[in-house]
Amino acid sequence: MSAQPSSPHHVLVLNCGSSSLKFAILDAISSEEIISGLAERLGSSSPSIKYKYLGKKYLLELTANQAHKEAIDTLVKLINEQNLASNLIAVGHRVVHGGEHFTKSMLIDDAVIKGITQAATLAPLHGHANLLGIASAQAAFKGLPQVAVFDTAFHQTMEKVAYLYALPYKLYTDYGVRRYGFHGTSHYYVASQTAELLDQPIEQSNFISAHLGNGCSVCAIKNGKSVDTSMGLTPLEGLMMGTRSGDIDPGLFNFLTTQLNYDAQQIDDLLNKQSGLLGISELSNDCRTIEEAAVAGNEKAILALEMFCYRLAKQVAAFMVPLQRLDALIFTGGIGENSDIIRDKVITQLAYLGLDCDNGANLAARFGTQGVISSQHASTKAVVMPTNEEWVIARDAAAIAQEL
Ligand code: ADP
Repeated sequence: MSAQPSSPHHVLVLNCGSSSLKFAILDAISSEEIISGLAERLGSSSPSIKYKYLGKKYLLELTANQAHKEAIDTLVKLINEQNLASNLIAVGHRVVHGGEHFTKSMLIDDAVIKGITQAATLAPLHGHANLLGIASAQAAFKGLPQVAVFDTAFHQTMEKVAYLYALPYKLYTDYGVRRYGFHGTSHYYVASQTAELLDQPIEQSNFISAHLGNGCSVCAIKNGKSVDTSMGLTPLEGLMMGTRSGDIDPGLFNFLTTQLNYDAQQIDDLLNKQSGLLGISELSNDCRTIEEAAVAGNEKAILALEMFCYRLAKQVAAFMVPLQRLDALIFTGGIGENSDIIRDKVITQLAYLGLDCDNGANLAARFGTQGVISSQHASTKAVVMPTNEEWVIARDAAAIAQEL
């Protein structure tokens, strides 16, 4: 007799950016993806939704200026047309900023909305989009529990010595100016998966995880907990990224305003949208394009890659201060999961930490494969671990929904 199929644990995961909305329905237990897609250019003259369902890709044009609410309405229509609603048990929202209020995922109620609204002053663009997404989903899925999963929550175990800026203390107490860190869901996920892969308890594991996508951050994980991370009050601090500068001398602000007449918005654009790999290569923010150009001998592309790796290696080395002992360096995100070139360059600069790179294993680790890429002789392991933030959000949302 065949086994009874267990009842589906489908969760709709929503990730609202300022002008985009990523969505997916996945099974919280198996991680199977039922449908996934991206609404982009929301609020512009040509918003659209592309999605993948049953192995096929589709594109829907939205009407000019339509934004998050209309995108969610369109998504709801699609879900109903395809009969996907009846298996849904919860909606999980990725919320970028949880401030100091939220140390774990929360069932969304009025108090949680208030907390998210307060934290939104620290990240207005993202916070506003997250709140819009929550309001639209609450209206569309009235009976379903809605759960907020915070990008900052995993880092709430950092201590003051790591999270304070050396600024007047009152800026922290009165306005919450401190380092929060982001990509927490990803750092948490890849650390726990790596502990499993290496067959060691996460509570006794010291890892440094490098999430390298369009945004990049490193996290120092001591005995399974985040003790430091490279992003700060906003996702601009730390590593060199696709279009973000990462660390700079704050004295640059004075130079840009007094010498070049920049205003606050122009400085924000410069640091967030025109810098990083794009700024140095003067070519692209896309790592693949830069790697191809570097192979063809483009000097700025070569420099962009060298800088990216040098700054990353420097940050990893700095995190040996809180960790003292390192079990594994983990690579994840689009670049971390795919770029053997960057992994090799970073590991080579960190040989004194006991890391090395097995050429064959490094070349083989791409397109979503996980594995150890250091040799058997390495005292510290290098690991490639594909991230799956959507699954963490789905699992948290399902767990909270089932407690109700
Ligand atoms: P996001 O932060 O938007 O989720 P991703 O995690 O998808 O971004 O990462 C995007 C980055 O991954 C881009 O810079 C892209 O060039 C890079 N990337 C994807 N595939 C490869 C590859 N095969 N080799 C090098 N870089 C890659």
